[in-house]
Amino acid sequence: MRHCPRCGAQTGDLPAVCPACGYAAFLNPRPTATVVIVRDGHFLAILRSLEPRAGWWDLPGGFCDGFEHPADAAVREAREELGVTVELGEFAGMYIGSYDFQGERLPVLECFWIATITGGEITLDPLEGSEYAWLPLSDPPEMAFPNQDVVLRDPLVRGSSVRLVP
Ligand SMILES: [Zn+2]
Repeated sequence: MRHCPRCGAQTGDLPAVCPACGYAAFLNPRPTATVVIVRDGHFLAILRSLEPRAGWWDLPGGFCDGFEHPADAAVREAREELGVTVELGEFAGMYIGSYDFQGERLPVLECFWIATITGGEITLDPLEGSEYAWLPLSDPPEMAFPNQDVVLRDPLVRGSSVRLVP
C-alpha cells in the first residue's frame, strides 16, 4: 500500500498523482556506489553481517547520500567499511537492481568502480561484515547481489589487476 509522502492519502502503485493533494510521486532508483578492490588477480569481498543477504560475500559499497557524487560515495564507503583509502580506477558500469529493505523492494542504480587500496590497514567494521577475503577474479563465488556476479565476470574487471598492479 502506497501513501502520498505529502498528505498521507492512498495513491496505489507508483508513479501516481495523489488524488487528494495532486502531489506527483515517482518511484526512482536509488544510486549505490560499489568498489571492486583488486590485487594480484584477486578482489576483496566482505562476508555481510547485515540483512538483506547476511552471510553472503559482498563487495564494499552502499547508498549515496542525498547530493553526493557516486564516485565520492564509493571512496567513502570503502573508508567506512574497511578503514582504508582507495583510489578509483576504471568505471566498471551501471546496472539496475533491486534491494529488499523494510518490507519494500527498492529499485537501485548500482555504480561500480575498479579500485586499489592506497592507504591504511584493513579494519573491518563488524556491523558491516564478519570477515573479509581476497577471492580469485578467475573464479568468483555467487555474490550477495546478482549484478555483482555480472560485474565480476566482465572482462574489464577480470583483467583489471593486470593493468592496475605493477
Ligand atoms: Zn497527497
